[in-house]
Parts: sequence; structure tokens; C-alpha cells
Amino acid sequence: MSSSSTDTSTALQPATELIENRNYIDGSWVDAADEVGLEVIDPATEDVITRVPAAGEPEVDLAVAAARRASGPWSRRPPRERADLLMALADRIDADVAELSRLETLNAGHPIGVVGGEMRSAADRLRFFAGAGRCLEGRAAGEYAAGYTSIIRREAIGVAGLITPWNYPLLTAVTKLAPALAAGNSVVLKPSEQTPLSTLRLAALAADVLPPGVHNVLTGLGSVAGAAIARHADIDLISLTGGTQTGRDVAARAAQTLKRVHLELGGKAPAVVLDDADPAEVARSLRAASFWNAGQDCSAAARVIVTRRAYDDVMAALLSEVGTLHVGPPADPAVEMGPLTHERHRDAVVGFLERAVAAGGRIVAGGGNATGHGYFVEPTVMVDVDHHSEIVQREVFGPVVTVQRADDDGHALQLANDVEYGLGASVFTRDVGVAMDAARRLDFGTVWINDHGAVTAEMPWGGFKQSGHGKERSVYSLEEYTQIKHVMIKLPDSGAS
Ligand code: NDP
Repeated sequence: MSSSSTDTSTALQPATELIENRNYIDGSWVDAADEVGLEVIDPATEDVITRVPAAGEPEVDLAVAAARRASGPWSRRPPRERADLLMALADRIDADVAELSRLETLNAGHPIGVVGGEMRSAADRLRFFAGAGRCLEGRAAGEYAAGYTSIIRREAIGVAGLITPWNYPLLTAVTKLAPALAAGNSVVLKPSEQTPLSTLRLAALAADVLPPGVHNVLTGLGSVAGAAIARHADIDLISLTGGTQTGRDVAARAAQTLKRVHLELGGKAPAVVLDDADPAEVARSLRAASFWNAGQDCSAAARVIVTRRAYDDVMAALLSEVGTLHVGPPADPAVEMGPLTHERHRDAVVGFLERAVAAGGRIVAGGGNATGHGYFVEPTVMVDVDHHSEIVQREVFGPVVTVQRADDDGHALQLANDVEYGLGASVFTRDVGVAMDAARRLDFGTVWINDHGAVTAEMPWGGFKQSGHGKERSVYSLEEYTQIKHVMIKLPDSGAS
């Protein structure tokens, strides 16, 4: 592994002009009630960048009231008008890629050399949903009972509460915002307390594009602001991307008002490598699939499961790729992998590694702190792990890969399915029949063949089992943010047959 120490010459400057401890509510920047607020940290240097509000129930009430006032007029606007505004916001993002990227690098530790792709994807998702929102459909219209005609309307639900995590802050916010707004809902959006800066910047970009109250942003703790959103009586649906336990908490709170819940939760993706796969191709895929964003990706290839004959060659190729990953300060354009995004999470990942070693696991690459400063963890490969052990069964959400040996194809697929998560999986083989059979048998919301991790706005994303339910991206996502109404009309008795 090559790594460089934190170099202040490539450090990014704090965004002092941006955040002044304020929330964005009803089209205005509102001072935080609590003057202390929450510290926002640069994970590469451990320095405090700025402070943001620790919103509580009063701020949530204000934002929800603004969203409620805005929701009727917004939902009644013709889809084309909403689409025009979403397209304008996409243009704003494109024009602001440099600053949004700077903030994501500063606050989330995403390497500056690649982070621009996240911003361009966000703009693309807005454009996709601007168009898709103009094509909403009900499936049937016609006469299903004598003397009546029926039509189906697909309508906005009202006020959407959107709660996002810290791993792809801006992209996840837009992934929820775009379909919610395109379908005619207003939103109250709470980014992670760890990484609020790019989402606040988005609010600033949208301020003179979207009408007041349509798009409100509150920062605060999940256990306070997030919980208040989840249980709020005047929020009609909740969309959360977060950990599986948070999903359970949010669903339980939302149940008090029977609001709709859409959950994008954790994952523990397997990459199943069969005997006939090309080891070099597999290792090249895993370089990105396992270590992109320091493995802080719900679909990261965290479990590599290799059939016996391929094992030695795949291991050699994987270790060679891992050894050349360039880890270092994310402001350095040559860096491929930056730090973990926050201290508590770094400690959690290190804890996983310590317990795995104590349980008999063997680290064959990485395992340490890559720079000695900042929340870095080296890209790590672990073998000799028991299938039922914590390191295999639980989501680590870091640059940690376990490699397991399988007796044959069937055993490999059995190991792949034998976790509580079901978000993403991949299979590597040159045999198309075997690949299609594996795709059918893998119990995951997305299956890649001979690749792992590619996504597009047009295709759905969402988990099975404990990875949640509902879909993001694609036209299926619009179903999460709309409700179906049947209108039945009694026809006059004209006497005609
Ligand atoms: P968390 O579940 O800790 O937090 C997610 C969001 O929920 C944050 O905004 C958090 O606020 C908030 N939150 C936390 N507790 C509560 C609560 N009790 N009630 C309401 N809101 C709450 O997840 P992380 O931020 O740690 O993100 C990582 C997780 O997200 C991983 O498990 C990952 O797999 C999952 N994820 C899933 C994806 C998918 O598409 N399925 C994509 C990306 C990530 P705060 O941060 O302020 O505490």
C-alpha cells in the first residue's frame, strides 16, 4: 500500500462563508435556537470546520408547518413546471461541482480526484426525475361495473421526511429529494449530523429556484431531530437511508401515526467468484467495489467467496491490487482512498478488526491506521474467518474484506445468501448459464454479473430482508412518493347498450 502523510499544502480551507449555525426553513435561513450547535469535523485532520444547529422539536415543527403550507400549491403545479425547476436545480449543481466537491472532501473525506462524479450523478438524478415525474401513470381506466366508469389518479402524498446518512451526503439527499419533489411532495430533509455541509450548500443553491417551504433542511442529532421527524403527526411519509437498527427505530416511531416508511438500510454484499473467472479481472473490480469511499458503501463487496480451484490465484491478484491502492489526504488529487468519515465510526471499524483477530481471523493485508493522523484505516483483507463470526455476518462499513473458500458453486451461493442482509451481490464467471442461474438464486435487490457496484439513475435500487424495503432511483422510486386514488363515476342511464 502506498500512503502519504497529511500535507497542509493540499488541505482544503473551511467553508466559513457557508454555515453560520442556521437551518433552512420556509425559504429563509433561521438562526439555531441552541447557540452551541454541533461541531462538524474534517476527518483527514480531526480539525473542527464549523458548527451547525442541533435542531429539536420546535425547529422540526416549524419546518413541517412550512412544508405543509407549501405542499398543496406545489402538488397542483403542472408536472412540467416542477420539472423545469428541478432541471434548473440540476444546472445549479453542475455549475457548482467544484464547491460541492470541496465540501464533500473537506467534511466526508471523499478523494477530490473522484468526488465530482457524485455531484454530476446528483444532477443527473434530478434530470431523470424531472422527466419521469411528467409520465406518472395509473394502470387502468374503464368500465369495471355496469353503469360506472373508473379512473386511477396517482397523487403526491404530502410532506415527506427525508433522513440521510454520512457516506454519500449530497448524492443520497438528491436521490430522495428528486423523486419526492417531482411527484409533488414538499420535504423536510435532515442530513447526518456528521456531514451536513453539502446538503446545506444544496439548500443555498435551491433557495431562489424552489418556492419557499417546498424544501426545508434541518441539521441535528438522529436521536433528537431524526426521531422528531419520524414520529411527527403531520409528516406523511418517511424515507430513511441508514443502518438497520435505525430503520427499526424509525419504523417503530412512524407506526404511531401509520405514516408510510421507505427504508434503505445496511448491506453485507458478497462477491461470488467461481472457478472459471479471470482472477485479474475480479481483483480489478474488487479494487473499486470493496475500497471505493473506504468501503463506506452499503453495497461494498465486503465478502469475497471463492470456489476452491480459483482461490489461490484470486487471493494473489487481490493482494496485488490492494497493495497499490493510494491512501492519503483526500485533498490530494492522486489519492484513491481517504479517511473514514468520523471518529466514532473509525473506532467501530477498528473494534471489528480486533474482535475478528481474537476470534481467529488472520489479517493478510492492512489492518492499521494508514497515516497515524486522521480517521484512516488501511485497506484490509482478512482470511480464516468463520462464516458465523461477527466479521462475516455484520456490516463493518469500512475498507475491510473477508475472503472465504467455498467447496463448489452451490456452496458459494449458500454462503452468499446466509446473512441477514439482501442489498447487493455479484457473481464472476464466464459461463452465461451459470451466471443467470446464480442471479436467480441470489437473494439480493441487485445482482451484478462480472462486475460489482455499477449503478444508474434508470434502474431500481433497494434491499431484501434486513436491508429494507422500497426502491430508489428509476420510475419505481416514484411509487414510494405517490399514492393511488380510484375515482368511480356513475354514468347517466342513457338507455344505450
Ligand atoms: P445511521 O443509521 O446512524 O444514520 C442515518 C441517518 O439517520 C442519520 O441522519 C442519523 O442522524 C439518523 N438517525 C440516527 N438515529 C436515528 C433515530 N433513532 N431516528 C431517526 N433518525 C436517526 O447510519 P449512518 O449515518 O451510520 O450511515 C451508514 C448506514 O447507512 C449503513 O448501515 C449503510 O449500509 C446504510 N446505507 C444504506 C444505503 C442503501 O442504499 N441501502 C446507502 C448508504 C448507506 P445522525 O447522523 O445525526 O445521528
